[in-house]
Amino acid sequence: MKIDVLADPFAPQPGHLPHIVIVGGGASGVLLAAHLLRDPRTPLRVTVIEGRHMLGCGVAYSTTDPRHLLNTRVANMSAFPDDPDHFRRWLAGRGVAATGECFVSRATYGAYMTDLLAPLSADGRLRCLRATCIRLTSLRAGVAAHLDDGQVIPASAAVLATGHALPEPDPDGLVHGAWQSAPPPPAGGRVVIVGSGLSMVDQAISLLESGHRGEIVAISRRALLPRIHGPATPLPVSRAEVPLGAPVSFILSWLRELAARSEAQGGTWRDAVDGVRPHLAALWRAMPVPDRARFLRHAAPWWEVHRHRLPPESAAPINLALRTGRMRQLAGSFIGANREGAVLHALWRPRGTARTLSLVTSRIIDCRGIRRDPEIHATPLVADLLTSGRARIDPLRLGLDVAPDCALIDASGRPNPRIRAIGPASRAAFWEITAIPDIRQQAQGLADELTRLHVPG
Ligand SMILES: Cc1cc2nc3c(=O)[nH]c(=O)nc-3n(C[C@H](O)[C@H](O)[C@H](O)COP(=O)(O)OP(=O)(O)OC[C@H]3O[C@@H](n4cnc5c(N)ncnc54)[C@H](O)[C@@H]3O)c2cc1C
Repeated sequence: MKIDVLADPFAPQPGHLPHIVIVGGGASGVLLAAHLLRDPRTPLRVTVIEGRHMLGCGVAYSTTDPRHLLNTRVANMSAFPDDPDHFRRWLAGRGVAATGECFVSRATYGAYMTDLLAPLSADGRLRCLRATCIRLTSLRAGVAAHLDDGQVIPASAAVLATGHALPEPDPDGLVHGAWQSAPPPPAGGRVVIVGSGLSMVDQAISLLESGHRGEIVAISRRALLPRIHGPATPLPVSRAEVPLGAPVSFILSWLRELAARSEAQGGTWRDAVDGVRPHLAALWRAMPVPDRARFLRHAAPWWEVHRHRLPPESAAPINLALRTGRMRQLAGSFIGANREGAVLHALWRPRGTARTLSLVTSRIIDCRGIRRDPEIHATPLVADLLTSGRARIDPLRLGLDVAPDCALIDASGRPNPRIRAIGPASRAAFWEITAIPDIRQQAQGLADELTRLHVPG
């Protein structure tokens, strides 16, 4: 298919500026664009392609419920690692008196992300397209992004900032998705929430604070709740101390020792978890695949509740509801849903038993979070990358296989530097790359790399 590069001023050709296409305009895509174009002298063009949400919002920051708070303090949510006060200044500029210690609403953060690109569109180097990219093909000196509206965008390189593999809506309509808009459930009816992580907390808070009177039941394998944020000072941990390549059991006991050391110094386990954070990607990369699998099977749920914590303001209504019986947690597995006439049943198996029990309910909400099989839940673009051999799934089925420099690895195992992945789309390679403090660092590094590669001089 002939690609009309002449028609497109953004097309990479002699006399034109190098051009980067970013597929996905959620937080990861916006952070990368902001880092690529931060220096107004950088002779580079960027196109951000976003199919569904407001720019910068994606799944996480599209919520309109002001009670859905960030799970990270203001001081750690700046878009720029070298300017940690950037978000707080933006808030102050909008009359929001927040210190770095505060947890503000995710909707507010979405507005910050949307705002981040505004100044960059002024000089014509940035273009944002509302469309869905359905295919990426190779060109002699670049790649072409094929959009669902028929446009073909040639570029020097493309970056997948496509975020989380989200589950398709339940075809029977019996189970609601966590991020699927729906009318409120019957006020007095029991609501069953599958999962007990941060998304469950979102749903429960919206129900509790909107006057829902019916019982809320959260079903999850271990009935773990995210731990609560508290004062924390990252424990200084040098890279030399980190047991890279050690078996996962050794790494976990090392982590426990760090927590004990921190408590002995008057701190808490939070200091230890925050202290190892800068080393997580290196720990994951050095971990042999069987150990990664062991970590995912046995330790990941514990790690998640200590790493992804709850703001105290979000924990308070949940703990009160648990104490007063408005809410309860069940340890077990959700088997499925069925409807008998007007009665909706949530079927579940208590932990350690083979029995299947039923809970009569008026609403079932799936809050099992973002870890989904990337092939089963593949978007048309990801499906095309896989069937064309331009990508492959990583051995643990966490996502697309990605090299340490974020290059996509094709079916024959060759990294393609013209197609990169960032944020949760690169999770298989780095594990802890879902939160802003990690994604902004990655965005800065990848922006430097792409600029070095594509901007002459
Ligand atoms: C509910 C929730 C709350 C969270 N809260 C926090 C928090 O408080 N603090 C924190 O640091 N992290 C939080 N996170 C982690 C979050 O992953 C990251 O902060 C960040 O939002 C990830 O952004 P992303 O752009 O990679 O992914 P997404 O938000 O998933 O955005 C990807 C975007 O790509 C678009 N897209 C995908 N495929 C295509 C295509 N083919 N063509 C065009 N567009 C496409 C989608 O429409 C979407 O808008 C939260 C995550 C979730 C799910």
